[in-house]
Amino acid sequence: MRIIIIGGVAAGAKAAAKSKRMLPDSDVHIYTKDDYVSYSACGMPYYIAGDFQDWQKLIVRSVEEFEKSGIHIHTRQFVTKILPADKKIAVKDIDKEEWQFVNYDKLIIATGAIAIHPLFMNPKYTNVYTLRNLDDGIIIRKAMNVAKHVTIVGGGYIAVELVEAFVKNGKRITLVERAPFILSMFDEDISSLVQDYILQNSDNLVNIISGDTVAELVGDDNTVKDVITAKGYGFDTDMVVVSVGVQPAVELAKEAGITLGVTGAIKVNSRMETNLPDIYACGDCAEKVNMISNTPTWIPLGSTANKEGRVAAINVTGGVEDFEGILGSAVLRYRNLNISKTGLTEKEAIKIGFDTVSVVITKRDKAGYMPEVKNITLKLVADKRSHKLLGAQAIGCGDADKRVNTVSIGLLQGITVEELIDADLTYAPPFSTSIDILISAAQILKTKLS
Ligand SMILES: Cc1cc2nc3c(=O)[nH]c(=O)nc-3n(C[C@H](O)[C@H](O)[C@H](O)COP(=O)(O)OP(=O)(O)OC[C@H]3O[C@@H](n4cnc5c(N)ncnc54)[C@H](O)[C@@H]3O)c2cc1C
Repeated sequence: MRIIIIGGVAAGAKAAAKSKRMLPDSDVHIYTKDDYVSYSACGMPYYIAGDFQDWQKLIVRSVEEFEKSGIHIHTRQFVTKILPADKKIAVKDIDKEEWQFVNYDKLIIATGAIAIHPLFMNPKYTNVYTLRNLDDGIIIRKAMNVAKHVTIVGGGYIAVELVEAFVKNGKRITLVERAPFILSMFDEDISSLVQDYILQNSDNLVNIISGDTVAELVGDDNTVKDVITAKGYGFDTDMVVVSVGVQPAVELAKEAGITLGVTGAIKVNSRMETNLPDIYACGDCAEKVNMISNTPTWIPLGSTANKEGRVAAINVTGGVEDFEGILGSAVLRYRNLNISKTGLTEKEAIKIGFDTVSVVITKRDKAGYMPEVKNITLKLVADKRSHKLLGAQAIGCGDADKRVNTVSIGLLQGITVEELIDADLTYAPPFSTSIDILISAAQILKTKLS
C-alpha cells in the first residue's frame, strides 16, 4: 500500500511513523515544501530566548532517521494539486522547477496552519516577521540579537512566550493587543492578572498597548522604523514580530473538492476521514469537536496534531481508532508564572448558551511552611443546571497546570462540582495543602449552587 502524506511537522511525521509501524510493508512518503520534517515548533521561543544554542536540538527525527526506518522524505516539494479521481497528487520541485505526478492508495493531508498576515505587513519590509516554521525561528533569533526595541503585534500564547524570550535577552518590547488584555482565550479576570504579572516582572522592559491595533508600519525602502496604532500612538522599533493568529492551510483540500467545516478547517469524522474516499486529514488543517459543547471547533495545538496523526495512521492501515475531540487544554509560561486552561472559559460557555456559575480563588500550592510554597489562582466554571464542570483556568508560580490537568480528566467524565469535592487527591506538605485548591474551589462552587 502506498501512503502519501502532505506535510511532515507534527501530524504528518506522527502519521508516517505510525503507518510504517502498523504496516511495515507499506510504502510511506512525506512530501513537504519545507527544508525540515519532524521538529518541535513549540520549542522555538526557547531557542530564540537562548535557553539552548543549537536549533538542531528541535529536530525530533531527522530525514536520515526516517529513511533508515523505510519512510521516504521529500523536502522542498510543494504539492500543488490533489486529483482524487486519479488518486494522484501533483508536486513541484521547488529548486528544479519541475513537476511530477505521484500516485497514492491512501492520502493523509497534514498541511497544518499558516500565520495570518494583516494588511499592514508590507512584504517590502525585511525586519517584519511571523513565527511559524523552523526557518522563522532561526531568523528571528538572529534579528533579535542585533535589535534593541522589538514590537510584538498580538497577545496570544506565542506572543507571551516571545516576550519572555526577548526580556531574557534584555530587549525593550512594545506589545500591541486588540483586546482589553493579552491572552484573550482566557477570561478577563485571569488574563488581566497575567498582564499585571508580566508588567511587574519584566525589568521595566515591557510596554503593553491593549485595546488598540497596529494601523501602519513606517520606514524607508525595506526597513520598518516606526509603528503607528489605530488610536494614533506612535513609537520607534528595530523589528516587528506579527503574531495575530493562524488559519488552517486548506487551499489544496478545498480545490480538490474536500469539504470544509464551519470553522474553515477540513471537516473530518472521528476516524480523520474527509468526505472523499481514501483521503484523511489531521493536525492543524483539520476541524475538531469540542467535547463539552459537542460543536465543531478549531484550536490548533501540537498535542492534538500528534494524537490525530496517530489516529489517521491507524485507520489508514486497516485498524479502527476514533479521535473523540478536544478540550483545548493548554499551558504556557512567563518567567515563573504558569498559565493553563482546559475546557470552556466562562465567556465561551455563556456564548454557547450555558447558565454558568464560577469561582476564582487564590491559595497556596503547598503547605505554608514549605520553603518552595507559591500561590495559585484558580477559576472553575460550572453549569448551574447540571452542576457539571465546564472548564478551569489556573495561573501561578506554583503547579497551576497540575490542577488544570486534573480537571481535564474530570471533564472527560462529565464530572460535577459535588464529585470534584469527593476527588481523592494526593496530599503531603511538599505537594499540596491538606485540602487542595481544587477541592476548596469546588466547595465554594457548591455553596454558590445551593
Ligand atoms: C512558536 C510556536 C509555539 C508553539 N507552542 C506550542 C505548545 O507549547 N504546545 C502546543 O500544543 N502547540 C504549540 N504550537 C502549535 C504546534 O506547533 C502546532 O499545532 C503543530 O505544529 C501543528 O502540526 P501540524 O503537523 O498539523 O502542522 P504544521 O506544523 O503547520 O506543519 C504543516 C507542514 O505542512 C507543510 N505544507 C503545507 N502545505 C503544503 C503543500 N501544499 N505542499 C507541501 N507541504 C505543505 C508546511 O510547510 C509544514 O511543514 C506552537 C506553534 C508555534 C509556531
